Amino acid sequence: MAGGIGSGIGSGSGGAAAAGRRAAVEAMPIVATVLIAVLLAVLLWLLHRGRVEEEQVTVIKDILWVEQTLHFHLNSDEEKLARMAKELGDGTLGPAGFAAAAQVLAADQPEVQRVVVRDAGGGQLRSEPPSETGPRPSPGEVPPWDGAFRLARSLGEPVYSAPYRAAGLGWVFEIDAPIHRAGRFAGMVVGVVSIEQLLAKQVPWWVASRTRVEMVDVDGAVLGGTTRVTAAAPGPSHTIPFEPPGHGLSLVATLHSSPSDLPRNVIAASIFGLALLSAWSLWAVRRHLAHRVAAEQALSQEHAFRKAMEDSLTVGMRARDLEGRIVYVNPAFCRMVGWSAEDMVGRRPPMPYWLPEDMENTVAMHQRLMRGEAPPDGFEIRFRRRDGATFWALVYEAPLIDASGRHTGWMASVLDITERKRAEELAGQHQERLQRTARLISMGEMASTLAHELNQPLSAIASYTTGCLNRLAAADWTAAELEGALGKLGVQARRAGQIIRSVHEFVRKREPEMAPCGVNALVSGALSFIEADARKHGVALDLRPAEGEPMVLADRILLEQVMLNLARNAIEAMAATAPRDRRIEVTVAATPSEVVVGVADHGPGIPAEGAAQLFQPFYTTKAEGMGMGLNICRSIIEFHRGRLWHEPAPGGGSLFRFTLPREAA
Ligand code: ADP
Repeated sequence: MAGGIGSGIGSGSGGAAAAGRRAAVEAMPIVATVLIAVLLAVLLWLLHRGRVEEEQVTVIKDILWVEQTLHFHLNSDEEKLARMAKELGDGTLGPAGFAAAAQVLAADQPEVQRVVVRDAGGGQLRSEPPSETGPRPSPGEVPPWDGAFRLARSLGEPVYSAPYRAAGLGWVFEIDAPIHRAGRFAGMVVGVVSIEQLLAKQVPWWVASRTRVEMVDVDGAVLGGTTRVTAAAPGPSHTIPFEPPGHGLSLVATLHSSPSDLPRNVIAASIFGLALLSAWSLWAVRRHLAHRVAAEQALSQEHAFRKAMEDSLTVGMRARDLEGRIVYVNPAFCRMVGWSAEDMVGRRPPMPYWLPEDMENTVAMHQRLMRGEAPPDGFEIRFRRRDGATFWALVYEAPLIDASGRHTGWMASVLDITERKRAEELAGQHQERLQRTARLISMGEMASTLAHELNQPLSAIASYTTGCLNRLAAADWTAAELEGALGKLGVQARRAGQIIRSVHEFVRKREPEMAPCGVNALVSGALSFIEADARKHGVALDLRPAEGEPMVLADRILLEQVMLNLARNAIEAMAATAPRDRRIEVTVAATPSEVVVGVADHGPGIPAEGAAQLFQPFYTTKAEGMGMGLNICRSIIEFHRGRLWHEPAPGGGSLFRFTLPREAA
């Protein structure tokens, strides 16, 4: 049912469009985050490419610079060696001068590790610093510098040798400058250049700090470099041939990767991480939102269902807080009292629907309710409508407990029972009238009995009076005799009076008067009324009273009426019974809690189909019967909180029994 109500909510094409819009809005942040991530990636890539290009340019610039610098130094070496060769050829440079010049050269140009003078055959004449190698190569051996030596000799100008490994100096190459004496080749001044020292000393520091420069031979073997330490992350590199000296030598420059890469990478990674995180949080928020929307929908469905339920209730509902202020009323309650919810919610007692003339009781009941002493079976109260009309309400009040189990007020359901009340009243009046009619009928029926009853004391009075008068006239009397006769006369007069009073009471419409009475006395008193009637029909009355005198709280006259009815029914039932069996046995028995009275006859008994209707109003099998007797009897007994029923008598006939709750004596 809840689904049925809820399905009407948020349906239709407008709903679909709204849902589409919402989906688009929800997707937007995700799309934006993805775009940011992509753009960021592109930006980083561009930066990286720019950097790589920049590094490439840097390394090329560096290597060109290095090459120029080295050439500058080698040129200078070459020039100085050529000058020395010239001076040696001229004879202006003696051995001591040579040593000094060589030392100056080595000091100026640290890459020149040694200056050697060779004779025209290649044999070593001098060396500065002195060398351990022999003055000339052993026969048959071709020294590594042989090619350069020959070339310089034939060209007559300085020539660079191929690199070779020299003892104690590592990889070296030579600059061979020929010496000519008087126009003839006379030997060679040789500068031995250490590749390692050339790179270590002549590469500018600002290049060496970022770029590793190496010299490699034709096979790619490294002959020397600026530093032995290999960069952790080598960057771009560039190679150029190094000529002179040539011979396949080349310079390789490799850029050390910039340490500034790390922070950049960290930042990029952080930004990526954050983008991922925000995408994830967006997704989580979206999922949370979806849950919320679903919950809200369920709630509104539930709410709509409850509202529909409340609105369709015919029972009035009213909630009050602990101070008695109205916090809620449902439409049924508003209809009942005629005030709107706005008029009532927030109001404190006295309420507009309280009856002014019954204010005291209503306030008392209200206070009782606020103390939590509401009658569990509800209570009836009269309220006033807005138009002034009054109505009866049946109110059930219960504590109002909130979701956390706290007692926050009182909830009442209110039923308009005016109609029911009216029907009950009508039925009550009807019953009353019937009872009254029944009493009148009984009275009519009893009229003759009463005449007979009264006849007896009256004729006794008359005969006592005549007797007394006769004695007085004859002056044959004693005071004691007269006193006795007058006493008996008085008893009879009182009995007559009592009979008349009983009849009067019997007929008068009166409120029940509850008083303690002894059941034995009550039963025998009632039987005395019917005695004459019984005699007339030849019926014996057999009373078996209870031991002691069990007491009940009762209206004596009503119970007498019950006894009379039962006894009269018994007499009438035995019309066809043999005269010797016409006997009514009346028993009174007491248990600790109640008193049981039985009236048994020897009539025909009651057939099963009759037994079912026995206590129905107007059920009778008699030509002049009313059919109200037993019905009234049951009402009276039930009024006294007892029970009345019928059962077959053990000796044939009917046995009617009733109980009455016992009253402490
Ligand atoms: P009424 O006496 O006016 O008929 P009652 O309500 O007293 O009305 O009795 C209803 C009917 O119950 C009687 O008509 C009769 O048929 C039956 N009834 C009552 N008492 C006896 C009885 N002791 N024995 C047999 N039938 C009885």
